[in-house]
Amino acid sequence: MNHFEYKDGELHAEGVRLSELANRIGTPFYVYSSATLERHFQVFSQALWGQEALKSPKGEAPLIAYAAKANSNLAVLQTLAEQGAGADTVSEGEIRKALMAGIPADKIVFSGVGKTDEEMAFALKTGIYQLNVESKPELERLSHVAGSLGLVAPLVIRVNPGVGAGGHAKITTGGAKDKFGVSAEEAIALYAQAASDPNLAPLGIACHIGSQISDLVPMQEAFSRMKGWVQELRAAGLSVERLDLGGGLGVPYFNQTEPPPPADFAEMVALTVGNLGLRYTFEPGRLISANAGIMISKVIHIHERESSGQKFLVVDAAMNDLMRPALYDAYHDIRPVVAPADPLKATYDVVGPICETGDTFTRGRTLPVARAGDLVAFMSAGAYGAVMANEYNSRPLIPEVLVREDKWAVIRPRPSYEEMMNREVLPEWLKPHSDKA
Ligand SMILES: *Cc1c(COP(=O)(O)O)cnc(C)c1O
Repeated sequence: MNHFEYKDGELHAEGVRLSELANRIGTPFYVYSSATLERHFQVFSQALWGQEALKSPKGEAPLIAYAAKANSNLAVLQTLAEQGAGADTVSEGEIRKALMAGIPADKIVFSGVGKTDEEMAFALKTGIYQLNVESKPELERLSHVAGSLGLVAPLVIRVNPGVGAGGHAKITTGGAKDKFGVSAEEAIALYAQAASDPNLAPLGIACHIGSQISDLVPMQEAFSRMKGWVQELRAAGLSVERLDLGGGLGVPYFNQTEPPPPADFAEMVALTVGNLGLRYTFEPGRLISANAGIMISKVIHIHERESSGQKFLVVDAAMNDLMRPALYDAYHDIRPVVAPADPLKATYDVVGPICETGDTFTRGRTLPVARAGDLVAFMSAGAYGAVMANEYNSRPLIPEVLVREDKWAVIRPRPSYEEMMNREVLPEWLKPHSDKA
């Protein structure tokens, strides 16, 4: 459920009329709903927090570490922080943003296959909850970095459970050939190595099998393998206190299999890996933010190819603003912002202005008949949208807006052309050609 609904024939974000917002700030832009972010976080968290079998021996409920990479705007992070969210981060920049948004260090997880020494040092000095170590060279560098700081690194080993799942090859991460994590045998050897290293505190194991998973079966399979490895480590005399089960639960992108409700997921988790005397962590990303955001764009014109009758709906947003369709053939529902009085429909290829064939949001989509100047909404754009945007074709980053009831605020402004160009610097051998553009 989200808070983007038609009222009096016009799409609103909570109490804010989107055509009004478009008049005020110009298109394209992203808009997020606070109520939807909060609701998604609460539905997922309450389902897991309600499972007795998932309480730690000290009575701690699972840590819900929102995967900041899905949408790391400070206002989004702070909205979630105020609901009790931790953060799963993949860079020093994300750790800094999480801290700035008020997420305490002891709720921050640091994941990723290529953490640098500087990033590890930063994470250790801030007193992070854990680093999710993904390889032997990383473990050895972490030991070195922790030793040189006189600190002990809290870590879990990311195991690749050999179960691939997810909507697309580019978002599957748990298959045996994907780059993430180590094999189970290697994990056990690394864990023992870490346990005998005074700079390292191995606390548990982690997995994240992919994204956009709409089937509990592969997850359950992966989790039950994780349980087996926890038992194997313990049988070898090693202490295991934590289990991180990753993110990846899918969200409805409107044309796909309905993902399981969080309550069913929580029940499956409790049955599969509950009551093991562990503190559990989950890292949902898109589940929290995807359907809490949309992108609003304006139709520039409609180009009808005379030979074939093929119609191109050319909009002012492009692949640099919302990369998911170009990157993973992702589906976004496209809706008119003002519900058309006319029931007439037409079939369009919806494209952006960028000089790449890949700059196509969808082909052959049947939509209400559109006209130049109409506003359209790309739904489910709150995760992996603004965070992936870039300025290809010298198109300034589009703004982000956060709505709360009938209030709205620009939470990342659109840079002016001047600001965009001022980030680039001429070397001294090239004299400024012109101060203005
Ligand atoms: C990307 C990622 C997540 C979040 O994935 P979603 O599909 O957005 O839920 C969680 N954990 C790790 C390690 C990730 O890389």
